[in-house]
Amino acid sequence: MSPVIGILALQGGVAEHERSLGALGVKSRLVRRREHLTGIDALIFPGGESTTMSKLLVLGGLYEPVKQLLDGGLPAYGTCAGMILLASRVENTRDDAVSFGAIDMTVKRNAFGRQVDSFESDLTVTGIDGKVHAVFIRAPQVIECGADCEVLARVDQGPAAGAIVAVAHNNVLATSFHPEVTDDTRVHELFINRFVGA
Ligand code: GLN
Repeated sequence: MSPVIGILALQGGVAEHERSLGALGVKSRLVRRREHLTGIDALIFPGGESTTMSKLLVLGGLYEPVKQLLDGGLPAYGTCAGMILLASRVENTRDDAVSFGAIDMTVKRNAFGRQVDSFESDLTVTGIDGKVHAVFIRAPQVIECGADCEVLARVDQGPAAGAIVAVAHNNVLATSFHPEVTDDTRVHELFINRFVGA
């Protein structure tokens, strides 16, 4: 049976992920309330503003049920602000911001310097043939990740060279960049094939 992928739809780039999944012929469901979590096979955390999403998750009573699902092994993919929400440690955020600790890593919000605040770069991503054109928009950077966490991509040129920008831990994937704003569906495909298991 084809999986149903939830997209956290409190704020941010929800429609873009819907479009990428649609292009792959994969079913998606917008998750705004607790009851929308029932029966999903995975959850995508979109880009946007992580501190706002954090606030809305708590206010709307979604934080605890989502945390339980992630702790129970629900596959997940976070882009940009979504990566921040999946991290176990976040630098440069509000004191009251929550995150899920689904990937054992430290991320720094808005980590790229002023001159590369938003930028594009062609990356090699483990598991994908050929380069991926990556769009970074006030992106976080992975400062360090635990022994069980797999680094899938680093920026390989320019002022941000060396920065870790794609990681995986168990069945959770996170990228600092936004494949959903391009027509390239290979990262979503990797997520579904390797992490969700169609
Ligand atoms: N800077 C945003 C944050 O900290 C993330 C930006 C994005 O998702 N494009 O949440």
